[in-house]
Amino acid sequence: MSRLLGDRGVSFLHRVVNFFLPGVCPICGSRMDFTDVLCEDCTSRLNLTPLMRLNIELKNVDSVWCYGKYEDELRDAIKLYKYGFLSSLHLIFVDKMVELFERSSVNFEGFTMTSVPPNLNSRLSKGFDHTGIVARKVAKRLGIDYKVLLKAKNGKPQVGLSAKERRRNVVGRYRIGNRVVPEKILIFDDVITTGSTLDECGRILKEHGAVEIHGFVLAHSII
Ligand SMILES: [Zn+2]
Repeated sequence: MSRLLGDRGVSFLHRVVNFFLPGVCPICGSRMDFTDVLCEDCTSRLNLTPLMRLNIELKNVDSVWCYGKYEDELRDAIKLYKYGFLSSLHLIFVDKMVELFERSSVNFEGFTMTSVPPNLNSRLSKGFDHTGIVARKVAKRLGIDYKVLLKAKNGKPQVGLSAKERRRNVVGRYRIGNRVVPEKILIFDDVITTGSTLDECGRILKEHGAVEIHGFVLAHSII
């Protein structure tokens, strides 16, 4: 296209498309460039100072690191992404997670990245592994391996359950995939509430040979 139209032609075409088919920000509804994922305002409101290490004690995960609180634009963006309305949002999340990893004190060399798998029902309805896509790209940016280590079985969703019920509900939810489990693992999930999902994943991984596990999440909804 650029060879036919030249740079000026492309920018003219860009302006024409933008005039007739402007993008609409999926969070606030304002007009934006059709090539953007979110409008400038919403994008800048996602530029938080990373929260860093969460004050949460889990039995099977050595530390948990978090980018932001599950509220405002970050919550809206995660929901839009998770429910399959805007898959390109993963590009923004990858940037945020790389920033979090680089600022954390975890020396991630020699670690293998994995992710909390979505359960089968939600994967089938959304058609994609929303946590795996982010974790795989973050691993690539950090220069470490990504492996699918866990598989989810079907089960009741965690939404609306008490902390105790959540702990009980996730037991036995995950199983190891067909791979050797590495000793040092970074595990990514989108949202942490009580930590019972991460802890259960950690339990299974440690039962199968993992020694050190650090959790990294986009957002927390811990009250
Ligand atoms: Zn917006």
